[in-house]
Amino acid sequence: MIYKIDPNNCIGCHTCMGMCPAMAISTSPDGKCVIDPTKCKGCGTCASVCPMSAIVPDNK
Ligand code: SF4
Ligand code: SF4
Repeated sequence: MIYKIDPNNCIGCHTCMGMCPAMAISTSPDGKCVIDPTKCKGCGTCASVCPMSAIVPDNK
């Protein structure tokens, strides 16, 4: 399972970026963060540190 960031909840604090062991999280032009689904390993670390609970499992 991989994770995704809900842009409606992300406040662009970038806390998640430095926590990802796979370097799968980057900044989008609007300052919010996005997860590269081809790099995410599904560890859930980013979801546990996000203060806005903006990172959720991508159940596609
Ligand atoms: S930790 Fe959460 S609120 Fe902060 S940039 Fe990441 S997804 Fe957005
Ligand atoms: S679930 Fe793990 S590998 Fe995927 S983006 Fe979050 S911290 Fe990175």
